[in-house]
Amino acid sequence: MRQVAFYGKGGIGKSTTQQNIAAALASMGKKVMVVGCDPKADCTRLLLGGVRQPSVLDTLRGFGAERVSLERVMVPGYATVKCVESGGPEPGVGCGGRGVITAIQTLETLGAYEDELDYVFYDVLGDVVCGGFAMPIREGYAEEIYIVCSGEYMALFAANNICKGIKKFAERGYARLGGLICNSRLVENERALVEEFARRLNSKMIHFVPRSKDVQRAEINKKTVIDYDPSLPQAEEYRELARKIDSNTEFTIPTPITQDELEDLMREYGIVD
Ligand code: ADP
Ligand code: MG
Repeated sequence: MRQVAFYGKGGIGKSTTQQNIAAALASMGKKVMVVGCDPKADCTRLLLGGVRQPSVLDTLRGFGAERVSLERVMVPGYATVKCVESGGPEPGVGCGGRGVITAIQTLETLGAYEDELDYVFYDVLGDVVCGGFAMPIREGYAEEIYIVCSGEYMALFAANNICKGIKKFAERGYARLGGLICNSRLVENERALVEEFARRLNSKMIHFVPRSKDVQRAEINKKTVIDYDPSLPQAEEYRELARKIDSNTEFTIPTPITQDELEDLMREYGIVD
């Protein structure tokens, strides 16, 4: 069982990318569980055809710990991908990361990890790796981390911060960086920039995912691109990314760069406006 976490700035495309990879792996015959670790609880929407499943935190609140069963919190989605959402506290109350800790502990208690799973995916909100959101790294659940980014400054800034978090816990846990996934925002020199950024982080850009309107078309239909139309070029991009992850053997402790170095890098690659 490989436990893989996807981190990255909010809105960068983690959930879209992660669900498409899960769908691609599932269609290759792999058994996958997706654990959404975002208080928005929208990490499994495309795998579930838009059905909003009850989150672990909501279920605990509604039924109490003793009456929570695996069937209530783990719902089968596309190609039998198992879908879980950690959920979050009421807005303005409590710690957002708390849901992540509770969800993972609840899944363990209920025996979700005992199944013959090939992959567990954690889709983790994280501009900064803090508190509960660092839990999958800190406690050794996430062994492999992929950072979703683009060539935009704030996406790289967040990626660099996440690397600081991985590095911090590298001695304690098993978390290693598997690479950066560039989810294109059509920034100038984007591929070269992200490749160089990844190299400086002691990592690599594992795949460049093009920006495509077919992602939105599939999303409107509440589906991954893999499910919506597997013959689309974008579906092949996600399958290729899934194959690269499946065969990846290079995992590193990242070497975050300074803010000055990041700013110099941006200038060097000519991103002016
Ligand atoms: P996150 O989970 O990181 O917050 P989402 O996966 O929800 O981000 O993506 C945010 C938006 O970007 C969604 O509306 C999604 O359809 C869009 N999007 C993501 N990846 C692509 C892409 N490669 N091409 C076009 N749109 C994309
Ligand atoms: Mg998301």
